Amino acid sequence: MEDCLFCKIAAGEIPSDKVFEDDQLIAFKDINPSAPVHILLIPREHIVSLNEVDASHLELLGHMQIVAAQVAKKMEIDKAGYRLVNNNGYQGGQEIPHLHYHLLGGRTMNWPPG
Ligand code: 5GP
Ligand code: ZN
Repeated sequence: MEDCLFCKIAAGEIPSDKVFEDDQLIAFKDINPSAPVHILLIPREHIVSLNEVDASHLELLGHMQIVAAQVAKKMEIDKAGYRLVNNNGYQGGQEIPHLHYHLLGGRTMNWPPG
């Protein structure tokens, strides 16, 4: 989608520090990390948020969970543990209107989040 930052990152028009990519997804380091490991996992397809998903996204969403676990292993945070977060809408803290999961690790996470 035009003028979407994450679509441009997925297309390679804006550089990112990629840790994984395939035909459906891309994972890259957050520019302003909130933890020693902070990866963003996004679909190549422009989906604004989880509010827009339906049964046609079943395979994609399952794949995202599996890839998140694989990336956690690659970043060596799987054994100590990590947090996988989706911010949805303005009260959920979503700033970029392209579906993404935050993979956070490398330190103990607070609960509940702020
Ligand atoms: P949100 O607040 O929408 O859940 O998360 C958006 C995330 O994208 C933030 O953690 C922010 O630091 C990150 N971000 C914003 N712009 C860029 C960018 O140009 N490159 C990268 N790698 N991350 C970005
Ligand atoms: Zn987009």
